[in-house]
Amino acid sequence: MTHRILILGGTTEARQLAGKLAARADCSVTLSLAGRTENPIAQNVPTRVGGFGGAGGLAAYLNDMRIDLLVDATHPYAARISANAAQAARMAGAPIVALRRPGWEPVEGDRWTEADTVGEAVQALGAVPRRVFLALGRQEVAAFEAAPQHHYLIRSVDPVEPKLAVPDADYLLSRGPFRQDDERMLLENHRIDVVVSKNSGGAATYGKIAAARALGIEVVMVRRPDLPDVPSAETVDELAAMVDHFVEPAAERGV
Ligand code: NAP
Repeated sequence: MTHRILILGGTTEARQLAGKLAARADCSVTLSLAGRTENPIAQNVPTRVGGFGGAGGLAAYLNDMRIDLLVDATHPYAARISANAAQAARMAGAPIVALRRPGWEPVEGDRWTEADTVGEAVQALGAVPRRVFLALGRQEVAAFEAAPQHHYLIRSVDPVEPKLAVPDADYLLSRGPFRQDDERMLLENHRIDVVVSKNSGGAATYGKIAAARALGIEVVMVRRPDLPDVPSAETVDELAAMVDHFVEPAAERGV
């Protein structure tokens, strides 16, 4: 019997999980991407791209494709799709499991200022001009036009278009992972005095946080949004090990 698994992705872990499950003879895996990145990394498993049309559209997809398990392996800040996934799974009566990478915790030496939203992060920079490193998605950086007094260094995977309507901004195109030594050099070369970051968790983008700590630089950390309460695993291996439980016929699960 083949288990049909839909993985909502857009993260490194989703790609790793898809590869791991696709290697199993009893799993047929489809990876779903939002289509935000212009040149996504090759995924090596069947991939579909684009939104489903809300929770109702995703529920219809789960039914039409007879999906046995929905895996939400989206980014921790992709709150809309995670909410849709939980609702769609309920509507379609399909099991769901989420891959929830733990967030970073501040440690000795960190100078974090936490903000609930990107708008709050803009305010947290204050009125006095500063040299700011924006390590946020290109969709979020537009909010910083509200504080044009700062110098911005903006790093993104795809070009920020249109450019920010601020007088002083540099753009850097780059895709992680980013090493701490390189991040430190970047912060020093650009004389950055504050970093704005999401609490993405994981090792791939932690370098800038560790580098900021080493240099005594403040980090304005945008807190994670609330996500639906569904069964979850913290790592790819943990989730892969849970799959059998979820895809067993309900009667055998004792449900
Ligand atoms: P979002 O606000 O939660 O989702 C907006 C809409 O995009 C959803 O309602 C859905 O459209 C569509 N969508 C999102 N993820 C999808 C997926 N994996 N497959 C198909 N449709 C998807 O999400 P977002 O913040 O725009 O992020 C989009 C994607 O980028 C996610 O897959 C996420 O994992 C990845 N990503 C996000 C961040 C971030 O910081 N937000 C960072 C790195 C990667 P419909 O309602 O039409 O189905």
